[in-house]
Amino acid sequence: MADTLPFTPIDEIPKIHRELGEVFQTGKTRSIAFRKQQLLQLCYLLQDNTERFQEALFSDLGRPREEAAYLELIGTLLEVKDAHDKVNKWAKTKKSPFHFLWGTLSPQTRKEPKGTVLIISPFNYPIWLTLCPVSSAIAAGNVVLLKPSELSPATAALLTELIPKYLDPDLVRVVNGGVPETTKILELPFDHILYTGNNRVAKIVSAAAAQHLTPVTLELGGKSPCVIDPKCNAKVAAKRIMWGKLLNCGQLCLAPDYILVPESFQDEFVEALVNAYHELHPTDPKTSGMVGKIVNERHMKRLKQLLNDTKGEIVFGGEVDMAAKYIAPTLIRDVTRDDALMSEEIFGPLLPVVPVKDVEEAIAIVNSMDHALNLYIFSDDRAFKDKVLNRTRSGTASMNEVVLHVIANDAPFGGVGGSGHGYTTGKAGFDTFTHFRCTVDHPAWYVDSCCRASVPVTH
Ligand code: NAD
Repeated sequence: MADTLPFTPIDEIPKIHRELGEVFQTGKTRSIAFRKQQLLQLCYLLQDNTERFQEALFSDLGRPREEAAYLELIGTLLEVKDAHDKVNKWAKTKKSPFHFLWGTLSPQTRKEPKGTVLIISPFNYPIWLTLCPVSSAIAAGNVVLLKPSELSPATAALLTELIPKYLDPDLVRVVNGGVPETTKILELPFDHILYTGNNRVAKIVSAAAAQHLTPVTLELGGKSPCVIDPKCNAKVAAKRIMWGKLLNCGQLCLAPDYILVPESFQDEFVEALVNAYHELHPTDPKTSGMVGKIVNERHMKRLKQLLNDTKGEIVFGGEVDMAAKYIAPTLIRDVTRDDALMSEEIFGPLLPVVPVKDVEEAIAIVNSMDHALNLYIFSDDRAFKDKVLNRTRSGTASMNEVVLHVIANDAPFGGVGGSGHGYTTGKAGFDTFTHFRCTVDHPAWYVDSCCRASVPVTH
């Protein structure tokens, strides 16, 4: 398996972009039959190469094979299959209902592809966050320039090999590289850009897109809080939070970032978290390989620094092995709002518990930060849930569950404010890459003068 990723020569990038535009102009990607056939091919690409993808994910992220299958490959396959099954319906021209004002104009909304779209994807779920948007873009009839993350090189190399083998090689072109290559790509005009990654780069992408007035969808991250009702089922809440936190070694945009718990409930909840951790990981995750590794040295140093700087009390974990790119799952209690762990998205296996006076203080802390990608509430009390939901904002919100809302692929997924804007998955993903083109077609037989004459002319 390739573990090095050859970068695309920078001077080839404008040519690739130009060729994609020429392909779009031929109109071949507009045919629904073509789109469906390509989506089916994408399903085969995933199905035929499951083991190779698992190997690549293990090489890039130490991802356990079962986790790779369930949380990346199967989910992506279902999403692509869903697009294949529903594209006829999604792409159907919509007639506006009759209204006497526009009676004979017959307004309709055509669902048209935008053209050449750019998809820039991140390292952490490098198949799911790459092929799901690619499938939405194909379903909508576009051509795609795909830039996978250079931080997951084995997966990017595999995608580079398989995409032209399974798909029409004119439809999706893969460009590999780091900052210089992506900078070159961003100089070019696109009809839509979907960027998934961090806020800093999102600003660079948005600024570049603005030069061409290109619409942008940003799928970003942030600090997703868990707000705990002291009357909740602590055992269940702790187990679900701990499970979601340790997926992919905490490198998940939806990972529970920190826990807000009433002071009087902190001891009981921390104990539940400790028990949940031991239940989920009866043996040392460093040797069991069930947690994975941190993607690179830069992120290792960042996480080590956060651990050094925290003033909270480490309950378990804390081990940092730079050579193995391993950080032990770490629970930290008595963390305050001004602690280092609360200064940025953690994106690693460190879980701070922040004691608060009451739910009012929890809401104030949530609102003192950028809007999170997801907000988690653990409570069985409708009034508690409504209070938190109604007084905070986040891209999505889950009650008594973590992460699994992404399975609902017919529901729009996206951030708000600092966690991004625009939507992906299912019909919402199709719409992202679609231009809603309104048309009217007025028959000549209509007695034209009667409507125009009826408009009074004033001076
Ligand atoms: P990353 O480092 O893999 O970068 C993402 C992409 O940006 C890559 O393709 C990379 O080549 C490109 N890039 C990096 N620097 C660039 C530059 N200077 N100019 C242009 N392009 C550049 O991944 P990351 O950004 O570290 O990903 C982690 C972040 O992504 C986290 O904040 C996470 O929460 C977020 N995320 C969000 C979602 C979502 O769906 N909302 C999903 C996954 C990750």
